[in-house]
Amino acid sequence: MLVYTFDDGCEDKNLLGNKGANLVTMTKLGMPVPPGFVISIDAYHRFKTSTDLPYDEIKDGLEYIRRKTGKSFGNGLQVSVRSSAPVSMPGMMDTVLNIKDEATMLAAIIRVFESWDNIRAVEYRRLNHIPSDLGTAAIIQTMVFGNADERSGTGVVFSRNPNTGEKGLFGEYLPHAQGEDLVSGTVTPFPIEELRRRLPEVYDELSRLADTLENYFKDMQDIEFTVESGKLYLLQTRTGKRTSRAAIKIVVDLAKSNLISTSEALLRISPDELKGLIHKSIANPESYVPISRGLGAAPGAVSGKVVFDPMEAIKAAAKNGGVILVRPETDPDDVPGIAAAAGVLTSRGGLTSHAAIVTRAMGKPCICGASDIKINLNTESFEADDQVVLKGDVITIDGNTGNVYKGALPLVDAELTSELNEFLGWASNVKRIGIRANADTPEAIRMARKFGAEGIGLCRTERQFNDPERLGVIREFILADTGAERTAALQKLKKLQIQDFKALFEALGGLPIIIRLLDLPLHEFLPSESECKDERTRQRICELREINPMMGHRGVRLGITNPEIYQMQIDAIWAAKQEVPADVSIMVPQVITLQELLWVKRLIGMRDLKLGTMMETVRGCLRAARVAEVADFFSFGTNDLTQAVYSFSREDAEKKFLTTYIREGILKDNPFEVIDTNGVGRLIQLAIEWAKKVKPNIEIGVCGEHGGEPRSIAFFSSIGVDYVSCSPFRIPVAKLAAARAVMEKIELERTQEEAEVTA
Ligand code: PEP
Ligand code: MG
Repeated sequence: MLVYTFDDGCEDKNLLGNKGANLVTMTKLGMPVPPGFVISIDAYHRFKTSTDLPYDEIKDGLEYIRRKTGKSFGNGLQVSVRSSAPVSMPGMMDTVLNIKDEATMLAAIIRVFESWDNIRAVEYRRLNHIPSDLGTAAIIQTMVFGNADERSGTGVVFSRNPNTGEKGLFGEYLPHAQGEDLVSGTVTPFPIEELRRRLPEVYDELSRLADTLENYFKDMQDIEFTVESGKLYLLQTRTGKRTSRAAIKIVVDLAKSNLISTSEALLRISPDELKGLIHKSIANPESYVPISRGLGAAPGAVSGKVVFDPMEAIKAAAKNGGVILVRPETDPDDVPGIAAAAGVLTSRGGLTSHAAIVTRAMGKPCICGASDIKINLNTESFEADDQVVLKGDVITIDGNTGNVYKGALPLVDAELTSELNEFLGWASNVKRIGIRANADTPEAIRMARKFGAEGIGLCRTERQFNDPERLGVIREFILADTGAERTAALQKLKKLQIQDFKALFEALGGLPIIIRLLDLPLHEFLPSESECKDERTRQRICELREINPMMGHRGVRLGITNPEIYQMQIDAIWAAKQEVPADVSIMVPQVITLQELLWVKRLIGMRDLKLGTMMETVRGCLRAARVAEVADFFSFGTNDLTQAVYSFSREDAEKKFLTTYIREGILKDNPFEVIDTNGVGRLIQLAIEWAKKVKPNIEIGVCGEHGGEPRSIAFFSSIGVDYVSCSPFRIPVAKLAAARAVMEKIELERTQEEAEVTA
């Protein structure tokens, strides 16, 4: 069987595609769906090999429509032919409307099948990692007419607000129009309240049906409808694209209404999706006057240089970062340009226009339908509020409010919603490893606490020296000619460091903190040679200069050759702890041997401070068993460790050759981003095994960038790491990744057990 009517009851997405299966479901639920039938994906595959269509079954389908509607070709029937893939690909394939005879309908079916391979669809699949051999079904459906009279119209509604996840109809209505007028974005429709005003009983029915569909599919629905002379028809329903913020609210609501379990809720949100959650907004927006206002189509505020051409967006973004793509409207050909841009502004189209849907899914800010901006694509400029904005000028768009501003406005980071906190609470109950933050300042610690950090896994002290006052003092220390000058400079530094540590401890609110002693080479604190006026400084810079500073006089090597620095830092930490009690540990960077650790331990003396090492050199890892004799904890510095294991300079590799390596398939991922489980990961695993043989309870952390990357977290969770430490903004993502790692492991063990039983 290759053709299925909407009444056949087959709801298989792999056979009928998403749209087709959902039309069958809606028909089964007794909803007002114009009758039709689906030419299955099996038929598509047969067509691909034999160019043959199941003509007899198609005729049966038309007969079914005749029985249901009393209409046939030449006798009042008009049908549409639309695509229906197993994975929704909005607007990518062809649709043919107003078909009045069989010959046109045959031709249309072939056109729809062939549109699976058009350039837009191929590019969309590539961007969204959709397999190209899935194929599509074709839907033949009786046409209804939203342009029949004044009591007719067409619209798109979501069962919730796709930006916030708030329950209730959200969408648009265009009276006296057909669906294609709406989706093309060429006219700006009314908000859905217009339907309530004009046809209140239709609005109520739509609202009730949207509710039923959401409960049935256990997810927010995106519904296309038409009203023909006061009668409502549903043409399509699918799971609606939503912002990450809305996605969280939706799964939390569904779990709390027992429609899904909390585990299902955690599995429905990917860590990548959570990344889009942290939206920026404009600091004190009331202080600025917008030059235009449109519809806030996808949330978040962003600044960037204006470009008008999607291709140019790609080039400009690669060169200088943030660009805002400004277009009258967008279409599927623009998707690569939208992907490259930091945000999108259109002068036409509504909240369900192409630009709105695509940016929302990508998690980038978008304003649509800013109808008072006059775009001139020839001169590459737009006019708004009597001002001219040219290509290359910087604007700020606020997708939260729909406001457009000239210039780059100051932005602030997002607040966590109560739903997100609840969701992350579920993740915390499931995850096995701890999630701490890398934070060097009291503000960063406060941010880390806000995002739910369970401790500060890495506080880098070199950053404290970067403000002008401290930089001056550390330069005095480095350039001192006499011992007395050095001691005086160190005393000043110690006072400042005590203040630094007290401020950090006050911000902790009881969380533990690991402070890393100075790691950076001293010359990093000196001005560049060209900036120096006096001979003495220039000479000192020459003395300190190194051919390969990342492998040079840094970390504990620097501490051992300049013992006063580490002594000063340890004394300052201790003094601060006496005034502001805190759970403080000290960490030594770049360790290669136990002897280095013993050396620092002597500086600590009898003081009650835990001592651990960064594990970021290959030798340190190979000597893990010996180092573990003295270390209370290890924290794997996977940035330096990756550099060392690969012999790739972390400063240069990404710029120079890694992109080519990845493009050519020589490396699968960037090893500085995703942990290399076979190489660096293997070394970490061995070091942990060796260390635990000597000290079973040694605490193991990871504080390199990989500590916030989902796939790496899953790996760390499986090899006995106790916690990962990442930037405060990545904590929600890390928590979810850690919870999903546990659930996926349980699922794997369950399927393995099942396989054993079957065997
Ligand atoms: C590391 O090397 O992974 C690390 C956390 O230290 P840094 O990035 O400061 O060298
Ligand atoms: Mg390091």
